[in-house]
Amino acid sequence: MTTAPAHRRFMTRRQAVHVALFDGLPLALLLAVVPLTWPWLRPGLYELGASLVLWLVSCLGITVGYHRLFTHRAFQCGRGVKLALGIAGSLAAAGPVIAWAATHRKHHQSSDAEGDPHSPNLAGSGWRGKWRGFLHAQFGWLVGHDLPSPLTHTRDLLADPAALWVNGRYFAIVLGGIVAPALLVQLWEPGWRSFLTALVWAGFVRVMVVHQIISSVNSVCHLFGSRPYATKEQSRNNALLALPTVGESWHNNHHRHPSSAYIGLRWWQIDLGGWLVSALKRTSLIWNVIDARGRKSETRSSKPEASGAEN
Ligand SMILES: [Zn+2]
Ligand SMILES: [Zn+2]
Repeated sequence: MTTAPAHRRFMTRRQAVHVALFDGLPLALLLAVVPLTWPWLRPGLYELGASLVLWLVSCLGITVGYHRLFTHRAFQCGRGVKLALGIAGSLAAAGPVIAWAATHRKHHQSSDAEGDPHSPNLAGSGWRGKWRGFLHAQFGWLVGHDLPSPLTHTRDLLADPAALWVNGRYFAIVLGGIVAPALLVQLWEPGWRSFLTALVWAGFVRVMVVHQIISSVNSVCHLFGSRPYATKEQSRNNALLALPTVGESWHNNHHRHPSSAYIGLRWWQIDLGGWLVSALKRTSLIWNVIDARGRKSETRSSKPEASGAEN
């Protein structure tokens, strides 16, 4: 019988393998293999274009699918849209959707306090403490946190057939997203060189860069930026990260209105995820969309609204 400590050890090992595959291996390829094989593995327009497309699809999948839909229930939709958004989010290789949602709900429950899986604000004061906190929130937490129990935090998703379907096929989807560009390029440029170049750049390196972009919301957006809402944690709005994070970096807005399907709340706050929400709403593919954009700015309020998720 699996005991709790044994299960914890098993999950810690799985986390370590995940980080080794999707962060360690790409870094090794970049630092060692690519310089040794340059210019044989030099990325061309195809690799850069495929990386760009997969960044957009996977980051939109994370923000609109994993985050706004599965975690916060910011809108409702049919099974097809749910599966499409879940698959798109899985392409980021940031973890299976149910584990991701459980971790993120834990973050909202105990933001910047004991129990927050990736706070940068618990490692001491001063610049040294902030630096240690940043390293933890950007990198270290990936192998250094207990995975919150799905039974406690995501009971609703465990009863959702679409969430279970996507969750169960996580590794197949990630592998598909890494290998697909390398197979696709064979149609017009067959050979090992094109296969490996696409595999390295549009596959592994793209995944590593997307991981860093996602982690920057946990680290930078709890350290640097403006705080129009005086929420209880240290969340910030960071305009510089708005484009790469496809809207997630208006993080102070999000902690104030966690159930809103829109994270950019002003017309100038670029929120590509919000644009996708609008497009899906206009075509009636999603409905009952929660929208905090029209609400008055309660700049001094410190009480966040309910997240719309089961905690
Ligand atoms: Zn946060
Ligand atoms: Zn959230």
